[in-house]
Amino acid sequence: MPSNPHYKKSRIHPKMKSVKSKLFISYGVIIFLILGFLSIVSIVLLNTNQYNKQIKSLNKTKDEVIKEIKTKDDEEIRYIYKNIDLSNQYLIIYKNNNLLFSNQSKEKTAYLLKDVLSKKRTTPHHNHKNHSISFSNLIQQEGYFQIASHNILVANIEKNRHTYTFFIVSNIAFADDGLNVVYQLVIMLNILIFLILLFLGNLLINKTIKPLKLILQEVKELEKSGDLSKRVKELKTGDEFEELSTTFNSLLKKIENSVENIRQFSSDASHELRTPLTVIQGELDLLRDKKITTDNAKEALHVIDKEQQKLQEIIKNFLLLSRLEKENLEDKISFLDRALFESVESNLPFMEEKKLKLNLQIQDDLKIIFDEKYLQIVINNLLTNAIKYTKNGNISIEAYKDRDKTILHVKDSGIGIDSSDIDKIFERFYRVDKARNGMEKGLGLGLCIVKKICHIYKCKIEVKSQINNGSCFTLKFIST
Ligand code: ADP
Repeated sequence: MPSNPHYKKSRIHPKMKSVKSKLFISYGVIIFLILGFLSIVSIVLLNTNQYNKQIKSLNKTKDEVIKEIKTKDDEEIRYIYKNIDLSNQYLIIYKNNNLLFSNQSKEKTAYLLKDVLSKKRTTPHHNHKNHSISFSNLIQQEGYFQIASHNILVANIEKNRHTYTFFIVSNIAFADDGLNVVYQLVIMLNILIFLILLFLGNLLINKTIKPLKLILQEVKELEKSGDLSKRVKELKTGDEFEELSTTFNSLLKKIENSVENIRQFSSDASHELRTPLTVIQGELDLLRDKKITTDNAKEALHVIDKEQQKLQEIIKNFLLLSRLEKENLEDKISFLDRALFESVESNLPFMEEKKLKLNLQIQDDLKIIFDEKYLQIVINNLLTNAIKYTKNGNISIEAYKDRDKTILHVKDSGIGIDSSDIDKIFERFYRVDKARNGMEKGLGLGLCIVKKICHIYKCKIEVKSQINNGSCFTLKFIST
């Protein structure tokens, strides 16, 4: 068991089973079944082998006894044990139903004879299967008997009109002991193997699930601390556990970013909302002054109106941003050329007001994969920015098809953006400070919305700009 004290603490719910115990039980059952099967097979094989050996040895003795009976007279047959090895067998010879020889005592011989006569033939050569037989029957038959796991052979031989009947019994005590020892050995060996395999399996399972325990422990600690900046230790196991720890960390990072995003958004939003509200509050205080002139009151009301419009604009953009976060936008088809003309038309008064020259180079029928409503928002934001950040000079819009893409350039000759700011202008509420000098103050949400919408429609954005030399925003739409 691992020495880390944390393991003791990581108890699972009493109703739940640990992965380790599940694996261990399944493993134990499989090993038990395999070894049980192997034990049965080996005992059956041993039995068959023992049986064949006994039959072979009975037959050998039988041949030797027949040879002795045929060649020797009765007196000599009484000393047959001198010529035949009967150490593992009992031999009983009858001549015409009279006992001629037995290597056992009289009692044992009588007992064996009784035993043989009362048993049923289990391996008959003839048609006497499972029938009790009498002695007279027996002496006319030759064959094998099986009593328990031991074998008896009965044979008859005719010599000089006399019938010699003999029994050979494999030594029961010897065979029993021998076999029992082997059986016990097989079973004990299997129990030993079973215990060793359980022990090894336990080690292996512990080693395998150790990373899981480590991850679980670290996750519990993270949960306790509630600190989203912490990470679990990334394991180098090269398997699913490594994948689990890295995936879990990347999930934590995403959650941390989202939480940070929400926090930042709340802070930015309250800051942005507070500015117009403070202005409104100031103007209301002025209005409350009884000495205020009509002109000043009108001016205050105008400021209040402007600030409340700004508030509405901010809230509208917030709603749009949150809708973009969760909305699953469908792949719709729009015409870029039409959307551009509509946007230019609605912005013409502002361009005329600033006496900006407009240069249009727009191909016809520019079909792109984009939602028309969001396409209008994107183009409008780019065009209003170009107008907003250009004091005088010109604005040019170019749109054309390039293989599977449709390219849009919105170019102005305005104040430009410093290279250090280019990456930041797409962030929420980011406004380049210099751009504010003498310029209309924006909300800093337009390009953030453009970026989010373009991301959804897989439209790439590039910006090229030089301070005091104008900017060019390039969008690469997917053509249909
Ligand atoms: P805003 O409402 O301030 O225009 P945007 O998100 O649209 O917010 O733009 C972010 C900032 O990027 C602007 O405040 C401005 O400083 C800069 N910017 C955007 N477009 C242009 C442009 N065409 N020329 C110069 N600066 C630009």
